[in-house]
Amino acid sequence: MKKHIVTLPGDGIGPEIMKSAEALLKAVGEKFNHEFTAVTKDIGGVAIDKYNDPLPKETIEACESADAILLGAVGGPKWADSKARPEQGLLKIRKHFNLFANLRPVTIFDSLEASSPLKQNIVHGSDLMIVRELTGGLYFGQPSERRDGGRSVVDTLTYTHDEIERIVRTAFDTAMTRRKHLTSVDKANVLESSRMWREIVNTVSKEYPEVTVEHELVDAAAMKLITNPAYFDVIVTENLFGDILSDEASVITGSLGVLPSASLSETGLGLFEPIHGSAPDIAGENKANPIGMMLSVGMMLKYSFNLHEESAAIEKAVNQVLSEGFKTADLKIDGAATLSTTEMTEKIISCL
Ligand code: NAD
Repeated sequence: MKKHIVTLPGDGIGPEIMKSAEALLKAVGEKFNHEFTAVTKDIGGVAIDKYNDPLPKETIEACESADAILLGAVGGPKWADSKARPEQGLLKIRKHFNLFANLRPVTIFDSLEASSPLKQNIVHGSDLMIVRELTGGLYFGQPSERRDGGRSVVDTLTYTHDEIERIVRTAFDTAMTRRKHLTSVDKANVLESSRMWREIVNTVSKEYPEVTVEHELVDAAAMKLITNPAYFDVIVTENLFGDILSDEASVITGSLGVLPSASLSETGLGLFEPIHGSAPDIAGENKANPIGMMLSVGMMLKYSFNLHEESAAIEKAVNQVLSEGFKTADLKIDGAATLSTTEMTEKIISCL
């Protein structure tokens, strides 16, 4: 298979972990006989420095002719007071490519269970996927403004039927590749938008008789995520609820550094990135954990290129390295040897 990828290293530790992604792609290409080509472009703070624009035209054009996009991270104190913000680059690229489906897997590696803020018996066996609607709802609805000279305010939660249906279908398709258990999260006891969401989930569910579907109110789901995370398989929810629940779910793993994500469009173009930020406090020190970035490569192979065996091989290699007693500085694993970014990358690649 031949595929072309745009890499957007961004800021802080972004360039360091992107090197890990590139080395991994090269190794997967050689092992499984694929040709991956890549071109590097700017986004975020580094793009503001060069172009005075967090998402320059050149970057958009390169992404338009790519099969997938890999992103490191953006932001940092250097741009705290600049007019253009690095994070605008992220919002713009999601909007430009209509990346409506955000997939956030939350897997607890056995060797990391003790790092979770939850008790080990509660977190044990947790392996869930949050499917969040990313381009609609309260974050984009208009009007969104102050009124009456600042004495009142309005935000608008709006969705079309099609916007809800496409994210719900993505979630059912995802559930079909997993344990076939879908929890749709809403606030149907209060919000009309949630009642419409529920109706659409029920209608689409008729096409997926193998998937067990349930509806959960967002407040109840937030509690269950910390009292019984292993209960969940796939969660589907709208933008605001998904934003909050996916961050809540990610902290139970005990390390931001190991979690990947995918943002998918209807055309099949996807953007893959670790969930953490640019970690300016450790940038340039060869200390960053490359696992979230490397698992993002795994998600790209699976979701954009349909390369399931290759993706599973990456997950297996990561698991093996952690369980053999190796870690990066951010992870707490008793007795494990601490590796640098480059050493961890080589170790994972050697286990492929
Ligand atoms: P952060 O995720 O960058 O860092 C939080 C803490 O986790 C830091 O102590 C950091 O050292 C550590 N950490 C994060 N990733 C790590 C890794 N791979 N390996 C080892 N340690 C890691 O969050 P923050 O400090 O709140 O934000 C820093 C900058 O990143 C800000 O400018 C923020 O806006 C930006 N940010 C960007 C994204 C993104 O690009 N998607 C996401 C979140 C934050």
